[in-house]
Amino acid sequence: MIQDDHDYVWHPFTQMGVYSETDPIIIERGEGSYLYDVNGKAYLDGYASLWVNVHGHNNARLNNAINEQLGKIAHSTLLGSSNVPSIELAKRLVEITPGNLRKVFYSDTGSASVEIAIKMAYQYWKNKNPEKYAAKKKFLTLKNGYHGDTIGAVSVGGIDAFHAIFKDLIFENIQVGCPSLFKSDYETEAELIESITAEIREILEKQSEEICGFVIEPLIQGATGLYAQPVRFLKEVEKLCREFGVLLIVDEVATGFGRTGTMFACERADVNPDIMCLAKGITGGYLPLAATLTSQEVYDAFLSGSHAEKTFFHGHTYTGNQVTCSAAIENLNLFEETNLIAHIEKTSALLKSELEALNNLDYVGNIRGYGLMYGVELVEPKETESPLSIATVEKIIQTCKENGLMIRNLENVITFVPVLNMSESEIKKMTDIFKNALNHVMHETIA
Ligand SMILES: *Cc1c(COP(=O)(O)O)cnc(C)c1O
Repeated sequence: MIQDDHDYVWHPFTQMGVYSETDPIIIERGEGSYLYDVNGKAYLDGYASLWVNVHGHNNARLNNAINEQLGKIAHSTLLGSSNVPSIELAKRLVEITPGNLRKVFYSDTGSASVEIAIKMAYQYWKNKNPEKYAAKKKFLTLKNGYHGDTIGAVSVGGIDAFHAIFKDLIFENIQVGCPSLFKSDYETEAELIESITAEIREILEKQSEEICGFVIEPLIQGATGLYAQPVRFLKEVEKLCREFGVLLIVDEVATGFGRTGTMFACERADVNPDIMCLAKGITGGYLPLAATLTSQEVYDAFLSGSHAEKTFFHGHTYTGNQVTCSAAIENLNLFEETNLIAHIEKTSALLKSELEALNNLDYVGNIRGYGLMYGVELVEPKETESPLSIATVEKIIQTCKENGLMIRNLENVITFVPVLNMSESEIKKMTDIFKNALNHVMHETIA
């Protein structure tokens, strides 16, 4: 099977030249917080199968919801007709998201949800007044942002390692500083917020006529290495967007559905966006579904009495698929019934204290995050400024896997993004395996 994997499968975000030199773990099944490979070895799922899994693997309720829907129909189109679960889910999403958001546009990946947000925001201004808003064709974005891998999403992204190669294909945007205290020259949160908001204000004063919207990962910039923002920053961004008439587009693909400890990151900052992108956790991590939510105001700008006029010409074949929407509805039911947000409050406090206990180690740098989304930066012992070598970081990850923990690094940052309903004892087990691997590898390296 390993040979067939090497022969036939091209893996995402993977240097296949390196991958093909290793024996990959091949997962066969899952149960609760655990993944099992083809040899029956168990791994605690410390990355929630790439930040998606909510209620555990092989969850009977989610399985039943999917099976029940399959007994009725798997898929029919939303183009010109509708279906039962997509209507119910849209209503539920509008009920639980911030008050401005009234309409749900479905798609199937986080990247597509951002692509849709960008096109929606752009066309919103054209529909409102094509002459007055003729210059509006750029987006304000944050340095180190990640919004997905399609060309529009790459255009609003800001991670050179992923995006630089495509620079001739993307459209131009305006990037502002990265609001992360530990990556900046500022000593205090207040200084950081003041400096970046001043930068944003200056850009908006000069160029708001060219800007359709501000695209932001709220509270945590994920893929760049879990850069946590001060909560108040998002509120300041919201105020500036309102003042200068620019749409606020929050990419909650990673942060949505409990990941940062509240159902949505916007909630913690008391922010009411114009557009919100959702994916990853929306189906509990079971099936590919995404949604772009927007306000009545944006929606109304697309209305007309004639088919070709002001219409949003965007859609995907599987938009609003019944099976994925059914899983998403059951995901929301389980959130309520298991009181998951309250559970995360406890496990988040435990994860934070377990990780912060590592602070006194020579090779542990910054520790940051919210909810169940934490990054631990590893640095060279003694010269704490320089990142730990990737070879050593990979050795730590490898040791974690050998000891039954599935976890990933983003450069020299170890990411803790576990299954959301993980128990307190599983959280403790996860951090214990990591600590032991760290001790083991670093001891070896120092010796
Ligand atoms: C993962 C992610 C995306 C892209 O989602 P895909 O489903 O992988 O296309 C977009 N934005 C953020 C913040 C993400 O974390």
